[in-house]
Amino acid sequence: MNGGMAIRVEDLVVDYPTTSGPLRALDCPRLDFEGGSSTAIVGPSGCGKSTLLCMIAGLANPSAGRVAIGETIITALSEPDRVAFRKRAIGVVYQADNLLPHLTVIENIRLQLALCGDVERAGQRATMLLDQLDIGALSARLPDQLSGGQRQRVAIARAVIHEPAVILADEPTGALDEANAAAAIDLLLDAHQRLQATLLIVTHDPAVARRMERVIALRDGAIVDGGQLAHVG
Ligand code: ADP
Ligand code: MG
Repeated sequence: MNGGMAIRVEDLVVDYPTTSGPLRALDCPRLDFEGGSSTAIVGPSGCGKSTLLCMIAGLANPSAGRVAIGETIITALSEPDRVAFRKRAIGVVYQADNLLPHLTVIENIRLQLALCGDVERAGQRATMLLDQLDIGALSARLPDQLSGGQRQRVAIARAVIHEPAVILADEPTGALDEANAAAAIDLLLDAHQRLQATLLIVTHDPAVARRMERVIALRDGAIVDGGQLAHVG
């Protein structure tokens, strides 16, 4: 188990090239997330939420600035080191579940562990986690034999099977009805508590945001609310 890692964002700027010149998608001088905390990131469509998550996940490089996860400055790592760090320390859940369509539920989950180099424990751990998440009976099914809610449970299982220190979820309930959305958030919060992982959830849903310890609001690429840690002067 990694335990929760603090996340620090410093002077982070992301410009996307467009036909009419660079578009500033994110401009974030300072943002801290305590290790083991839970945070909702809210704001209108296009305000930079996915861009922020993407930079924290090390899925792309910013135009300027740094992201540190624990002691690791991921924005300073080479691409292969960044990929390796992400596989070990980060779990990501997307709105669309991104399960591999030709692999069964259990194979999708085992693959995540195998990618982390943990082939030995893969089989046993995957079965245990599926039972824990109450989806053990689905393990031999292909993703298209599952409901949307079941698929997202599998996607969450896959994101946490390697016991990441950081869990990032980009609108994980966006495609779900209210009951399935609540169940998906239950799973994410369970994993967050069990692993003491730092949890960031991008959401449009006030009911989801209310379940997190902290809410930060973005607008036009900037933090407009909740950027300060309550006890930091
Ligand atoms: P959100 O997740 O809050 O909806 P995004 O982070 O996806 O917002 O996007 C922020 C801004 O950057 C938007 O104006 C979006 O159109 C733009 N954008 C996102 N990705 C790209 C890209 N790859 N190329 C150009 N512009 C992009
Ligand atoms: Mg988005």
